[in-house]
Amino acid sequence: MVFNGFLSYLPLIAVVAYTLLLLGIFVRRSQEELQTRWFLAFLAVSIVWQLILFFGQQWMLPRPVPLKVLLIGTLFLGLTTAVYVNWPRQRRWFLMGALAILLTVAADLLLPGTTLIPLLNFQASYRGLVGFAIWFLLSGFIFFKTWNDYRTAQFPWHANRLLFWAIALLITFLGEALLFFQWPEAVIAGHASRLIGILALAYAVSSYRIFDVRTRAQKVMILIVVTLLSALPMLFVLLAIWQIGIWQNWNSGVTILATLITLVISLFLYEPFRSWLQRLADRYLLGGNFDTSQVLRNYSQATSRILDVNQLAIVILGAASELLETKYGALLLINNNDEGQQIEVIPAIGSVPRDPVTFAPDSPFIRAFAQHQPLLQYELDFNRQYANLPAQERMWLKKMAMDVYVPITDGSTLDGLIAMGPKQSGLPYQPDELSLLQTMADQAVIALQNARLYREMEERNEKIKQLNIDLMHQNERLEVMDRVKSDFITIASHELRTPLTQVKGYIDILAAMNAEGILSQEQTREIVGHINRASLQLERLISAMLDASQLEVDGMQLNFMETSLETLVRLAIDPLRTALAERHLTLKTEGLADIPPLHADFKRMVQSLTNIIGNAIKYTPDYGTITISARMVPARLGDLEYVELVVADTGIGIDPKYHELIFEKFFRVGNPQLHSTGSTKFKGAGPGLGLPIARGVIEAHNGRIWVESPGEDEKRLPGSEFHILLPLRQPDTAANGKQAPAFVRSRAAQPT
Ligand code: ADP
Repeated sequence: MVFNGFLSYLPLIAVVAYTLLLLGIFVRRSQEELQTRWFLAFLAVSIVWQLILFFGQQWMLPRPVPLKVLLIGTLFLGLTTAVYVNWPRQRRWFLMGALAILLTVAADLLLPGTTLIPLLNFQASYRGLVGFAIWFLLSGFIFFKTWNDYRTAQFPWHANRLLFWAIALLITFLGEALLFFQWPEAVIAGHASRLIGILALAYAVSSYRIFDVRTRAQKVMILIVVTLLSALPMLFVLLAIWQIGIWQNWNSGVTILATLITLVISLFLYEPFRSWLQRLADRYLLGGNFDTSQVLRNYSQATSRILDVNQLAIVILGAASELLETKYGALLLINNNDEGQQIEVIPAIGSVPRDPVTFAPDSPFIRAFAQHQPLLQYELDFNRQYANLPAQERMWLKKMAMDVYVPITDGSTLDGLIAMGPKQSGLPYQPDELSLLQTMADQAVIALQNARLYREMEERNEKIKQLNIDLMHQNERLEVMDRVKSDFITIASHELRTPLTQVKGYIDILAAMNAEGILSQEQTREIVGHINRASLQLERLISAMLDASQLEVDGMQLNFMETSLETLVRLAIDPLRTALAERHLTLKTEGLADIPPLHADFKRMVQSLTNIIGNAIKYTPDYGTITISARMVPARLGDLEYVELVVADTGIGIDPKYHELIFEKFFRVGNPQLHSTGSTKFKGAGPGLGLPIARGVIEAHNGRIWVESPGEDEKRLPGSEFHILLPLRQPDTAANGKQAPAFVRSRAAQPT
C-alpha cells in the first residue's frame, strides 16, 4: 500500500525535478540559442505530461491523453536534436511530430478502446499498442539518426559530443519506454532513467564542452577492474583461512585473529599493489607506453640543428605524430601584412590542402592564440566566442580539417601554428596531450624564427642574383643601343647620300650635255626619270624618318574607320606583287575572310602591314613561302574581342637576342655599312625604320606586335613569325586608357 502510494507520487517528484531543471537553465543562460529554447519547451511539455499522469490517476482522464502530450514532448526533443546536431531541413521535424500525433488521433477514432488483448502477462488495448508503436518509431528515428551522425563524424571531439547526446537520448527514451508498462519496478526505473537522461541532455544543451565519454568510460572500467583485481589476493587468503579453519576445526577465536591479521597486512599491501596494477593498466591499455622525455630530448636536439622551414615542419610534425599517432598535419607560417595575417601552409605528414589564406587582423581565430594555448576545431565550431568568425576563414579552416592548432609564439609575436589532424585511434586529444604539444611548440620557437630568417636571406640572395642577371642583360642592351646610335649616323648618311649622289650625278650629266648642246629629248626623259626615282627614294626615307620621330613626340594621330582585315592585307600586298613574282615567292592567306569588321586607321595599318610583309619578302630567299593567317582570340577581355594576325615566312629567321631590338629605330641585324640596295631584294638592307613604325601604329591601336623565331640560319631557314594582336573595336579611351589589357601585354613580352 505504502509502495503504491509512493508510486503514485512519482510523477509529482518528476514534476518538481523538471521544474527545478527548467528554472536552473532559465536562470543560468540567456535563451539566445535555439537549441536551449526547444529544450525548455520539451521540459515544459514533460512537466505537463507528468502532471496529467499524476492527476489522471485520480480524475480518470481518458487514457490516451498522456500519450499525445508525450509525443508533443518527443517532437520538441526531436527539434532540439535537429538544432544540436545541425541537421538540415529542421522544419521537417514539425511535420513528422504532427503526423505522429495525427496518427494517434486517427487510431483513437478507428480502433476500439476497450478491447483488451493479452500480451506476455499483461493486457493491452489496440489503441495503446498503436500509440506505443508510433512513439517508438518517432523516438527510434531520432536516436538512430543521431547515432549515425556519431558514426560518421570526422573529428573525435565532434563525435564525442554526438555520442554523449545519443547516450542521453537513449537513457531518456528507455525511461519513457518503461513508463508504458504497469509493473511498479518498471515505473520506478522508468522515472529514474528518464530523469538521468534529461539531466544529461540539459548538461549537453547548456555547456558546449562535454567530457570525453569514451576515455572516461574506459577509465572507470579500468578502475573497477583494477580495484577488483587488487582485492583478489586478499579474498583468496581469507577464503583459504576460513577453509583451513573448517578443516582443522579451529575455534572461532583463531579464525577471527587470522582474519584480522590478514586484513591488517592487506591494509599495507593493498594500496601499493593497486597502484602498481593501475600503472600497468595505464601503460598498456590507455596507450601511455611511449617514453615522452626521450622523444622530447631527441626532438629539441633535432630542431635546433635545422635551418630549412620544410625540414623543420617534417621534424616537428613527425615527432608530434610519433607520440600521438595523427593521420596528417602541417606547419602553418604566419606572415604579417597590411591586410592581416597571411598563412602559408607547409604540409608535413599526410595530404593537406595548401591554399594560402589571410586572416583579418582582429580575427577571433588569431586572437585566441594570445592565451598561448592550443585551440581545438571543436571550440571553433561550438564556442560562442568564435561565432563571428568570417565565413571565408571558417571555410578555409573547414577545408584544412585539422583537429587542433598549437601556437608557436615567443609571447609577443605569433610565428606559426602546428596544425594536427585527428588521431588515428579516433580518440579526442586529452588535456595532457595538448600541453605536450604546446611544450613541443614552445621548443620550436627559436628554430622556426631562425629558419624563417634563413629563408628570407636566401630569398634576398636569389633576388640579388636575379637583379645581377637583369643588370647584365640591360648592359648588353645598352651596348647594342650604343652601337645602334653610332650605326644611325652611318646608316642615315649612307641612306641619304646614295640617292643624293645619284641626283647630283644626273644633274651634272644633264648640265654638261646641255652645255655641249647634244641633249636629245629621249635622253632628257631618261635622265629626268633617274633623278625622279632617286628623289622619290629620298622622299620615302625622309617621310619614314618623320613618321618615326612623330612616334616619340606626340604619338600618332589616327583616323579610325570600319574596315575589314582582308582589305587591309590586300592593299598592303598590292605594291609588293611585282616583287613577289620576281622573287618567285608563294603568298598564302588563311582565315582572313572569317574575321568580323574592325576599327582601324586605314592608311597607317596598310603602311605597317606593308613594312612587315615587305620584310618577309626581303628576308626569305627565292621560291620561299609567306603565309598570312588570322584567327579570333578565344578569350574576351572585358568588352574587347581580339584578332591575331600572323605573318610567317620561310626565311633566314631572327636570333632571339634581337627579338626586341629589331623594333628599335635604326636597328638592323648585320652590317650597318650596307645600304638599301632595293626595297625587296633578298637581304636588301633598309634604314631600320619599318618595324618601329609598325609597332608604333599597332600600339596606337591598343594592339601588340612581337616576333617568334628559333634563330637566324641562312642554310636551314627556320623562318620568322610576326604576331599582331588587334582589338576589333577601340576601347573607350577615357575609361580604359591607351593601355592594352594585361594579358595582351604579357604575350607581347613573352620571350621566344
Ligand atoms: P629594315 O628597314 O632594315 O628592314 P626593319 O625595322 O623593318 O628595318 O627591320 C629591322 C631588322 O629586323 C631588319 O634589318 C632585319 O634584320 C630584321 N627583320 C625584320 N623582319 C625580318 C624577317 N621577316 N626575317 C628576318 N629578319 C627580319
